[in-house]
Amino acid sequence: MHTAEEKALHIIEKLEEEYPDARIHLDYETPLQLLVATMLAARCTDKKVNEVTPRLWEEFPNAGAVAAAEPEKLYAILRPTGFFRQKTANIQKVCKAINEEYGGVVPDDISQLIALPGVGRKTANVLLANAYGGQTIPVDTHVGRVSTRLGLAPAGSADAIEKKLCELLPEEKYSTAALAMGEHGRTICKSQNPDCPNCPVNDLCDYYLRQAR
Ligand code: SF4
Repeated sequence: MHTAEEKALHIIEKLEEEYPDARIHLDYETPLQLLVATMLAARCTDKKVNEVTPRLWEEFPNAGAVAAAEPEKLYAILRPTGFFRQKTANIQKVCKAINEEYGGVVPDDISQLIALPGVGRKTANVLLANAYGGQTIPVDTHVGRVSTRLGLAPAGSADAIEKKLCELLPEEKYSTAALAMGEHGRTICKSQNPDCPNCPVNDLCDYYLRQAR
């Protein structure tokens, strides 16, 4: 292992081998559905989000319908995801903007996405990588934790971690790297008690090597 770039690529290739079926855990059929599911997933499990979204889309099938809905009707559906009043307000704002500015179609451009109300860089990257087949690194809690423990990026803001990972990795690896690190964070490199002895990249992990000293 010679350079930081080689180390990063080696780690990601091992994680890709370990998690060949890594994928996003939110259910969706359209970019709009993924955008809304991602907003609902804040401080909520993907499983819970997946339980409520089928009814949402059945009753309010497009951005215009969501924007025009009585908030109480959305509360009744979205309540199980927590913080449902705030989430409803944010989702209605973004749906209104998408409906009025983009004819109901979620844009596929990062600057247009992050200009939408309530859409940050992570959400925009989730959209681009998963709904539009782009190469981006959405830094969620798992990607942030795994990449900093491994020593691929210094602890810091999600934007700084994304920038560092993008510098280290070839662009064609961005999206699979994020999915593989996400899966690794959910299964082995958990927040509490990571299973380091059984980790396929422990020989390259700064955190593990520090503990072993
Ligand atoms: S060795 Fe431990 S801390 Fe490092 S990536 Fe693996 S599970 Fe995470």
